[in-house]
Amino acid sequence: MVALVAAFAAMPLAAARADSRQPFPKPKPRCERPAFRVLLDVGHTADDPGARSARSATEFEFNLRLAREIERNLKDSGFTQTVVLVSKGPAIAALISRMRRANAAPADLFLSIHHDSVPEHFLESWLNAGSPARFSDRFRGHSIFVSFENRHLKESLHFASLLGSELKVRDLNYTPHYTERFMGSRQRELLDNRTGVYRFDKLYVLRTARMPAVLFEAGMIVNREEELALATPERRSTLALAATDAIEGFCGQRQAATKAVAGRHDGTSPAQARPHPMATGRRPTGDPQTARLLR
Ligand SMILES: [Zn+2]
Repeated sequence: MVALVAAFAAMPLAAARADSRQPFPKPKPRCERPAFRVLLDVGHTADDPGARSARSATEFEFNLRLAREIERNLKDSGFTQTVVLVSKGPAIAALISRMRRANAAPADLFLSIHHDSVPEHFLESWLNAGSPARFSDRFRGHSIFVSFENRHLKESLHFASLLGSELKVRDLNYTPHYTERFMGSRQRELLDNRTGVYRFDKLYVLRTARMPAVLFEAGMIVNREEELALATPERRSTLALAATDAIEGFCGQRQAATKAVAGRHDGTSPAQARPHPMATGRRPTGDPQTARLLR
């Protein structure tokens, strides 16, 4: 307290006056959690599992475990309409089927969960518990992608930055290497160097989603140290809390904007007005959209 008084006493009068003119920060818009729909997309399938970790685990296993943790966290927090999208079979067919289900009843947010690897030429060989495996310790960290072809780009970018900020305050850093020329066809434009948001226009799930959409690479499973961290319940819990807090912030702002645009004054949002077919277990109807593939 003494230190605080001394600090105020030492503050120049002009600065103190300037501070007194500062308006109080606006309260954050309230989020009606049960009315907000989140789709958690699990990248890849058990049959076509994506990248291999440094210890030969599949990316799909990592994606599914993290998506389930985020789902649990969201539902416990009141986001009861959260749905996890999991598919079977070959990757491309599964991708199309997941997006059909997603777009049959667009939600407020689509979050695709992945874990990252590196271009083939960076992979090195090693023996993991006597078995040959491949790794790369060169890069570490998460990354977040949005597509300029998504029809809700502004909102997608906004959520991506919120997610990046929530990860940053938990001391989790993004990987900057996607901007490097050596990434070749995987080189990306960094849109937000504070929060690690990249541009990836052709990513199928992002450009075909009829709702704000973000793809989250939660970390490098080919990095031997980072794989161990990503496999712990503690890291999954931290990632899930970051995602939940980002969704909470996004939800309040989106619902406030939706109400303002619709001129509604009855306190309901479009999402609240009708039950979500996937949340209620009913089978969604198909979507005739022609699929343009990933790359
Ligand atoms: Zn993936």
